[in-house]
Amino acid sequence: SPHCSQHAVLRTMQVDLHGSTVLVTGGTRGIGRALVEAFAEAGAHVAFTFRSSTDAAAALVESLEEQGTETLSLQGDVADLDAAQAHVNAVTEHFGSLDVLVNNAGITRDGLLLRMGEDDWDDVIDTNLKGTFNFCKAAYMPMMRQQSGSIVNISSVVGTTGNAGQTNYAASKAGIVGFSKSLAKELGGRNVTVNVVAPGYVQTDMTDELDEETRDSILDAVPLDRLATTEEIAEAVLFLAAPASDYITGHVLQVNGGLSM
Ligand code: NDP
Repeated sequence: SPHCSQHAVLRTMQVDLHGSTVLVTGGTRGIGRALVEAFAEAGAHVAFTFRSSTDAAAALVESLEEQGTETLSLQGDVADLDAAQAHVNAVTEHFGSLDVLVNNAGITRDGLLLRMGEDDWDDVIDTNLKGTFNFCKAAYMPMMRQQSGSIVNISSVVGTTGNAGQTNYAASKAGIVGFSKSLAKELGGRNVTVNVVAPGYVQTDMTDELDEETRDSILDAVPLDRLATTEEIAEAVLFLAAPASDYITGHVLQVNGGLSM
């Protein structure tokens, strides 16, 4: 509703990230796009990656630059370490620093384990978990050298609760939690924080694919009785990326309407 989005805009404006450079993976659609827009609104320079939505990427760059945000779009597969390294290099060369990294790009290939193909497993682990490894590895040196930075990795409620039909996805999302806590310990002494946002069900292309029955049963389990908006996930990520949360690291922030407590 218009009320909802206006509310989101007002809260985002309290986060001031002028002068900071942010890199969001998977920025063309869904949560990633809301992240890119929220960071731009907070005054940051924004770089984002995508895999194949070239038109959406071009439209996003145009609309952000119209609003006065310096923007860089980067095409590539997050599962490719060399591409991740090249993307991070492009960001630091273009903007002079990398202050915030958000690993958001993610996919699902659902099915019961009995019928799950090896490709369904590999694609999900390579994109969600290895993609996060790739970008964190690439961001490690620049953030360590500048002795500051925030990394926010996007997990899912399913990473802690499990979900029939999502063994691959849940493994990738639980993996992100263990990975992030370990990296938080490695980078803490360098003033770099590493946190996780674990969304519940969010209104995006990913959840549009759900049938009505599944959707209804999800809503029955959500005390707030609705899906999240992408802006609501972005708010939580912005908090963990902003100076207000400087002393928070290794944390998993559940943004799930009470689905799991
Ligand atoms: P969408 O499917 O709406 O968007 C996915 C984005 O990631 C797109 O920008 C897409 O680029 C990009 N992407 C996908 N695969 C790759 C790849 N291999 N390399 C580079 N970019 C890639 O996803 P959501 O917004 O729904 O989800 C975003 C994150 O939030 C994911 O990690 C997801 O697991 C997580 N999440 C989502 C929930 C939900 O209910 N929607 C709930 C909990 C967690 P392109 O447009 O080019 O395809």
